[in-house]
Amino acid sequence: MDCLFCKILDKEIPADIVYEDDQVIAFRDINPQAPSHLLVIPRQHIATSNDIQDADCELVGRMHLVAAKLARQEGFADSGYRTVMNCQEAAGQTVFHIHLHVLGGKPLGWPPYTERPKTAI
Ligand code: 5GP
Ligand code: ZN
Repeated sequence: MDCLFCKILDKEIPADIVYEDDQVIAFRDINPQAPSHLLVIPRQHIATSNDIQDADCELVGRMHLVAAKLARQEGFADSGYRTVMNCQEAAGQTVFHIHLHVLGGKPLGWPPYTERPKTAI
């Protein structure tokens, strides 16, 4: 399967890995949108949020637990941070292996989106 994040999991492509266990790993985003921008991904290949099954609920919960632990480690658990999972093209998903963005280290605006040209969707 030609999946960038599976390649990072298999160590075929290098990444700045900050956390690993038997179910999930986390690494720094190559194009950070905040002073700290981490991606938490499952070892299991799941393409989008739409593909999450009942049997994956614990795994997805673990992704959130790891995100919170990493936020504590990065020093912004108490001040605040954001977790985001983009689903499909219109939401900006570009890598089709689910990943939880963990963004922090500065005040984050809300709403988070910017208008995209209608032709882009
Ligand atoms: P999406 O747009 O699918 O929600 O998020 C994909 C994220 O993966 C983007 O924030 C992008 O910067 C990041 N990304 C893309 N390619 C690589 C890579 O090779 N290494 C790392 N560490 N991050 C990547
Ligand atoms: Zn994958």
